Amino acid sequence: MAGDRSDVVVVGAGPTGLVAACELARRGVVIRVIDKLPAPAGESRAIVVHARSLEMLDRMGIAGEIIDAGVKSLAMQLYAAGRRLALVELDQVDSAFPFSVTIPQTETERILAGRLHSLGVTIERGVELTTLTQDGDAAHLTLRHASGAQESADATWVIGADGSHSTVRAQVGTKLAGSFQGERFILGDVEAEHSLDPDSMYTYFSPDAGPLLAFPMRGTRMRLIAQVRHTGGPLDLNPSQDELQRIVDARADGITIIQSHWLTEFEIHHAQVPAYRFGRVFLAGDAAHVHSPAGGQGMNTGMQDAFNLGWKLAMAVYGTCGQRLLDSYHAERHPVAAKVIEFTTRLTQVGTLRHELAVKLRNELVHAASGLAPIRHAIADQTEEVALSYRGSPVVAGHRHGRVAAGDHAPHVADTDLQGQMSAAWSPEFGGHVIVTVGTAEPAVLPTSVREAGDARQVLVTHAGGSPTDGYHLSVADPGHLVASRYGLRDGGRVIIRPDGYVGYIGDLAASVVPYFTRLHG
Ligand SMILES: Cc1cc2nc3c(=O)[nH]c(=O)nc-3n(C[C@H](O)[C@H](O)[C@H](O)COP(=O)(O)OP(=O)(O)OC[C@H]3O[C@@H](n4cnc5c(N)ncnc54)[C@H](O)[C@@H]3O)c2cc1C
Repeated sequence: MAGDRSDVVVVGAGPTGLVAACELARRGVVIRVIDKLPAPAGESRAIVVHARSLEMLDRMGIAGEIIDAGVKSLAMQLYAAGRRLALVELDQVDSAFPFSVTIPQTETERILAGRLHSLGVTIERGVELTTLTQDGDAAHLTLRHASGAQESADATWVIGADGSHSTVRAQVGTKLAGSFQGERFILGDVEAEHSLDPDSMYTYFSPDAGPLLAFPMRGTRMRLIAQVRHTGGPLDLNPSQDELQRIVDARADGITIIQSHWLTEFEIHHAQVPAYRFGRVFLAGDAAHVHSPAGGQGMNTGMQDAFNLGWKLAMAVYGTCGQRLLDSYHAERHPVAAKVIEFTTRLTQVGTLRHELAVKLRNELVHAASGLAPIRHAIADQTEEVALSYRGSPVVAGHRHGRVAAGDHAPHVADTDLQGQMSAAWSPEFGGHVIVTVGTAEPAVLPTSVREAGDARQVLVTHAGGSPTDGYHLSVADPGHLVASRYGLRDGGRVIIRPDGYVGYIGDLAASVVPYFTRLHG
């Protein structure tokens, strides 16, 4: 590939870059994936994969591998001073995967890289981006190879997924903006004796410091993350097992570390770039936003950035969308990371209260609120990222129906047969839109703007904006109103589910789907 012009160069083969690369490669886009490291990082940083990411990985064809390599977490528990304040079960999460999976980031990356390899793409390791410019014709990159050789390469588009110290970010002339009062954490990947439920994630509030997070993993393996006081001194990159044990003993009961694999201190800021798109260049993952590991949202948010961008950029490469769709990447994803930063900042503030009265009040409030089922469900849906919505996005269309509006995460239908029919259309081999016609009384028919192409269910939608968009039409006979009630379509209707699993359009049977597709070309 070296020397040729690529459709897309993905800079960085962390979880964000790997998802972006898989999404482009499975749609046949010509890509290069480069990473300056000669081999994948050996440190397992993020360890939680949430429900929404499992749905994404399912569409990519690798959710099963991730689940098999990890441990299912079915609940979150919150403790303070030995008392359980809250138990939030995840089984009601609105997803085909109502749980989280705890799995080392190294494993997640290994499985993603395997998928990319199966799509015929080799990650170019030991290749570092050093400069990046762009003009009306292309993006121009200078790459330094491990041998010391310099290479000039061109690409139509570039994805900067090169982490928190992003070179791409610097080269487009932007910066992270936010709070640089770093939060300090001690992290331990350990073997531990404990009596915790292996299928739960734990948070312990402490009276005089930040929270301790404990994630039981396979066997006796456990991830511990404890916020520690910021002394202003340098990071201790080799804290001792005794030190971590002292912190654990002060905040939780009955966890004895018997061996440690990785102990370190790290510091996190809360910050985000002001824009995610700079002409031909897109920023994603840690290159675009950094925040506290509380809630385990960092890696998940980065992978979802890439998933949002992948299908859009593929349409741009094939010339089947306009600038509006590409700009919608910023419009949809920038507010998501802003909310994660707000959420994790608040979580830290709540978790680090010191005043005795405030601590008591917090504990009582958390205990009382978590006794209410709707609040527990809302917390679970938010943590698992299925409550996230792109309502108001410039590329979604249609009115609100019941609780569902265009831009929402496609609700899960509990009926296995009906959900199975819908999910079949989202197979890893098919990366387009799915038009679902839900008929409650009569068999549903194709909208007139849609014509069949090839396979009986594959369709082309003709519209004013340009070349037709390909999609998949699924006619769901729903006399029991199972799908209709889930989507708030009392008398049946039509839903367009985007390639990333969000509702692009929702409307009555009589309404036209054309305006939605025209928007993509706007
Ligand atoms: C100690 C620690 C613990 C963490 N714990 C958690 C946790 O529990 N939960 C959570 O959600 N998140 C956690 N995180 C954050 C999480 O690891 C990141 O959010 C995640 O790795 C972001 O993925 P990314 O692909 O965007 O960036 P990265 O994983 O940083 O990947 C970027 C890649 O780009 C490459 N690269 C950089 N510059 C260049 C260049 N110029 N040219 C070519 N390649 C380049 C790098 O080598 C790297 O492979 C933790 C982070 C740290 C440091």
